[in-house]
Amino acid sequence: MFGTALSQLRYGSAILRNRPIRPRDLERIARDLVATLAEFGEPGADSALLPGQAGAVDPAVRRTVTERSLRATARAAARHTAHYRRVFDERGLDPLTLTPETWDQVPVTSKAALRGLPAAFVSTASTPALMALTTGTSGTPTTVWYSRAEVEISVAMSTVSAVLGMGLRPHHTMAYAGCSRATLPLLNVEESVTRIGASFVQIGTVDPAVALDRLATPLGLRGKAPQITHLTVSASYLSALVEEAERGGWQPSDFGLESIGVGGEVLSEPLRDRAAAALGARITTSYMMTETVPSGGTPCDEGHLHHTSEFGHLEILDPVTHLPTSPGAVGIIVQTPYVPYRDCTLLLRYATGDLVELPETAPTCELAHLPATSPILGRWSGPLSRTVPTRSVLNLLEAEPAVPLPARYALVEEARGPRLHVLVRRPQDTTLLSRLEDRATEAGLPLEGIVLHDDPAGLPPTGPVRADLREHTFESARPAAVRVASPA
Ligand SMILES: [Zn+2]
Repeated sequence: MFGTALSQLRYGSAILRNRPIRPRDLERIARDLVATLAEFGEPGADSALLPGQAGAVDPAVRRTVTERSLRATARAAARHTAHYRRVFDERGLDPLTLTPETWDQVPVTSKAALRGLPAAFVSTASTPALMALTTGTSGTPTTVWYSRAEVEISVAMSTVSAVLGMGLRPHHTMAYAGCSRATLPLLNVEESVTRIGASFVQIGTVDPAVALDRLATPLGLRGKAPQITHLTVSASYLSALVEEAERGGWQPSDFGLESIGVGGEVLSEPLRDRAAAALGARITTSYMMTETVPSGGTPCDEGHLHHTSEFGHLEILDPVTHLPTSPGAVGIIVQTPYVPYRDCTLLLRYATGDLVELPETAPTCELAHLPATSPILGRWSGPLSRTVPTRSVLNLLEAEPAVPLPARYALVEEARGPRLHVLVRRPQDTTLLSRLEDRATEAGLPLEGIVLHDDPAGLPPTGPVRADLREHTFESARPAAVRVASPA
């Protein structure tokens, strides 16, 4: 389509001519994509120019764009937020002289700082419209204020990724099984899905049996696929659905699912395979964070996570020293989301706490022009989270049908090393224990031992997962109520 080509051209030339992409270009790209779908049923072949998929750009041009974006963002933050005004004053920093090489003079912003005083990061030049709260599975939720313009950008990005990433078309129906209180993702999914012309169903994080029933129920809508075709979930809730489907005798053919988008938590390889087999759908995943949207990451076929470089500045730093991580080592993602894509809550060098490994060799994949890391390994919570990351524990446990899902485990540091406590169906299962031990050794996990439990009460405290944000429904309450009401 002419319109699409035009805005893509504008997008491409914005980078080449060394101008930032304007937020309204993003909205235009999303709108044109929807119009192309409505007219031709498929996105244009030229969609390779869409955000995050832009081709290689001259490194010198990229550096100039980066410097300009860093300075503009630092200037906005130092002028308009209480937190960074104080930081820049105290250190005598001038935002307009910063370069990518001297960017490390700006101190790293901790999650605790944002959590402690979110208003100090809100630009006085913006109009806060929506308060987004993170789920807070790692502690107190973090407050991030969004302006109306930021919500629009976020919906535009969500529209592009639903069409190109999840293959959503107007005859599809998308269900959202994330927490119903997660306003921003819920609004994003609903708004982008219905803009595409597809239909939207809010399921919420309900009893997995109720969710599977709803996914299997015929819709009976003219012009729509017979059942729900797309699903958005967190990894732990997906694992709860897999548990229910495998044990409840469900077949993949009971569902009409084509694609399941998983985000927000570490998705292990075995869970991905089991979910694809149990629910009969393609599993896609991406990396996005409330604090740093629209920057994010996309996995490639070679197993990297590639990060967009247009909307923010990415650094991988040691979680303790904040020095750059060397290739082959594990560090945390530190992001600076750029103005004007972000104009309300402004963050410079924000320590997300998300652990990744830097590849030892330069990638040669189709996304090689974008910065690459490993997939997210887990969340930094001390040295143990780096030596035995969440991803390696989930790869170990979620491959075992004898471990009920979501997997419940605790790592306990002891004198001789960390011990992994796991909730299983039958703790007497010695073959399970030796298999887990062998696989842990094979995976190079420095564990001192594995202890199996069948009573959650006997397990050391485990971390919460998003599947724990269970929402009550009368459907799951009813059978119990009927049993009570019926004469024995
Ligand atoms: Zn790659």
